[in-house]
Amino acid sequence: MPLLILGFIAFFVLAWWWRRSRTLTRNCVWREDRRRAAPGTSFHHCLTCGAELALPLGQEPRHCLRNAQPGPPPHQ
Ligand SMILES: [Zn+2]
Repeated sequence: MPLLILGFIAFFVLAWWWRRSRTLTRNCVWREDRRRAAPGTSFHHCLTCGAELALPLGQEPRHCLRNAQPGPPPHQ
């Protein structure tokens, strides 16, 4: 039954991909803070790891900086 095996493989790949994308969004929740933004830039901070990032206007951070920040994470 090659079709059944193929279905199983597709299921596991999809489950792995779904978990991976879900973990990424849960680990990093970027919020824009317009009050702290300098003119011409947009300031973002992460609600989960506390990372802060200033980017050119119109750009949004796509990666969590949890591992790049010094010190322990806020929640353990
Ligand atoms: Zn983060």
